[in-house]
Amino acid sequence: MRRSLLRWYRRNRRRLPWRERPSPYRTWISEVMLQQTQVATVLPYFERFLRRFPDLPALARAREAEVLRLWAGLGYYSRARNLLAAARRIASEHAGRIPEDLAALRSLPGFGRYTAAAIASIAFRKPHELVDGNVARVLCRAFAVFGDPSRKPASERVWELARELLARRAPGDWNQALMELGALVCRPDAPLCGDCPWRAHCRAFARGLQDELPESGRRSATLPVAVEALLLRRGDKVLLWRRSDQERLLPRHWSLPETRHVPAGTAGPELCRLRHSITRHRITLTLRAGSLPPGPIPAAARWVPAERLPDYLVSSLWRKAVDRAAVLPIG
Ligand code: SF4
Repeated sequence: MRRSLLRWYRRNRRRLPWRERPSPYRTWISEVMLQQTQVATVLPYFERFLRRFPDLPALARAREAEVLRLWAGLGYYSRARNLLAAARRIASEHAGRIPEDLAALRSLPGFGRYTAAAIASIAFRKPHELVDGNVARVLCRAFAVFGDPSRKPASERVWELARELLARRAPGDWNQALMELGALVCRPDAPLCGDCPWRAHCRAFARGLQDELPESGRRSATLPVAVEALLLRRGDKVLLWRRSDQERLLPRHWSLPETRHVPAGTAGPELCRLRHSITRHRITLTLRAGSLPPGPIPAAARWVPAERLPDYLVSSLWRKAVDRAAVLPIG
């Protein structure tokens, strides 16, 4: 699992300014900005902030009002205040050098368990595991951890797994790889299991639980969604549909075509009906038989031999539907 994830990370990681020209200071600023905030939002703030405060002494000398002005729009302003307070402490107590030691980092304002481990592992290659929302989601799924990972006992289990898995020779790359996998592939709403380097090892995937994990203690309003899909067959092949980026449910996934994807009159009698939840979407899926008129098929469609369906249909919603329609036991 270590080798496959590190290999995947080296090929797929996003080229980000704090990764391309790393330094402890740049890593620190990026980590603080990225808390609760998307990468795309952070990028222009990071560039602006670094132009004005290119190193720690420059930040330590800054006036709070100016730091807050550069932070305006990023929200969570206590982060900016803590950043400045920590920079002043580092300047006065550590001769302007960000400390490498985890305990010293944790004593600084704004350095919780996550931030201290991120700086120590990424900037100083110290073997410290870390868990953020992305890592918790990946580990809950890959190892089928039940319970809310923001609370005990699930949170303890997740930190323990992170500790056991840590690639001690490349802790910074390892921690970033886990976070990157969560951000790009093992996404909250529609994990792209087909593109995942851990697919062969993932317990949630094997058991069709990837849409149910991680379990969250917080209840958000549920959204009922009705989906009408079609089982279109030609010989031993089934028509699949590559969903666009714009789909609300499972974007970029292969699925069965929905009636709205194909010409009117294609749908035939109902084969089965099932209920399924993906995050807060409560889906009622009606599966119908149907027949396509001869001729070319749309670019998003592909005829796939029935025995190859497990390679394409990675979401448990479609796997259940195909299983229920007895095309192929796909468990
Ligand atoms: S196989 Fe799917 S659920 Fe499992 S870790 Fe990969 S993306 Fe996440």
